[in-house]
Amino acid sequence: MKKNMKFGVLVADKKAEVHEHEIPDIGDDEVLIHNKSCNICTHDYQQWLGLRPQQPYPMAWGHEQSGIVADMGKKVKYLEIGDQVVDNIYRPCLECANCRKGLNMHLCLNRPNEQFTKDKYGYYGHYGCGQYEVVHQKHVVKVEKNIPFEEAGFTEPLATVLQGIERLSIQPSDHVLVIGAGTMGLLNAQVARYFGAEVIISELMENKIQTAQKLHFDKIINPSKEDLVKKINDFTNNKGPSTIIFAVGDTKAYEQGFNIAPRNTKFLIFAANFPAPQWTVDPNLVHYKFWQIIGTYGASLKNWQDAVELLSYKKINVTSLIEKRFSLMDIQKAFESAATPGTYRTAVMIP
Ligand SMILES: [Zn+2]
Ligand SMILES: [Zn+2]
Repeated sequence: MKKNMKFGVLVADKKAEVHEHEIPDIGDDEVLIHNKSCNICTHDYQQWLGLRPQQPYPMAWGHEQSGIVADMGKKVKYLEIGDQVVDNIYRPCLECANCRKGLNMHLCLNRPNEQFTKDKYGYYGHYGCGQYEVVHQKHVVKVEKNIPFEEAGFTEPLATVLQGIERLSIQPSDHVLVIGAGTMGLLNAQVARYFGAEVIISELMENKIQTAQKLHFDKIINPSKEDLVKKINDFTNNKGPSTIIFAVGDTKAYEQGFNIAPRNTKFLIFAANFPAPQWTVDPNLVHYKFWQIIGTYGASLKNWQDAVELLSYKKINVTSLIEKRFSLMDIQKAFESAATPGTYRTAVMIP
């Protein structure tokens, strides 16, 4: 008889359960990953909150996972049983014109949309929060050093940050204002600093300001208590920021950013929110002020590999960004925690 596996499922708004079915067979080119942890991303807890009706149920959710190779087909190369790995959930074909150009994997012309196709067991999703998942060898990426599984789970979010920083062409002379010091804000801030930029953080919540301080950021502004423009002028010798990263999808944050931006500012729209925030930008200002407004989402294969290496060698600190750990059996509690405003990543630990 085949062995069964347990996995986390979003079954309805505000309802997460643990389900079970057989461990699927692997093909010659496939790898069976025994997942050890999966972090809950905004993408996941916003579905749990009922804010993403475009994401269907039942969702075998999870993409910020990490585990070990438990078994592999006979054609699998460059991996060994026991290797710590992450799963490249973008599933690029690596053969189409866009993949060959090294573009964002989200732009792959043949990308299967597994998330929105039911599998033979009747579930959507990648099973990132499952004890086992089957992945083609080309999407399995080895973690270079033994690091905690929940830290390796930051590969996907960190890769998307690297893509955004690349699109901004961050230079050491840049003064980058990051609006929002949540998980993605502090990842953006750390990567911008890693590329040499001076970083200023704007954040309203005291606990997030403290986390930013722990990560050795010292130019932090709480605009509910301090004059944002004056502080930015102090920090930048009256030049203002050269780059503004919106790490929260919030109408007020957009207004604030556009109000204080000097000429030649680049804006990165990093975050999404549902329902969509509103903004009004005067096109004449974009024209006369030489503004560049850049959207970003997803990552390239290079960003993915770089993220694995930055995490493996601990060049970006994600330890402070893991707030709580829950066992798979407490999945409902894990989502309640993840969806609490002001919380950093919640990790689900998988037996
Ligand atoms: Zn994510
Ligand atoms: Zn492709």
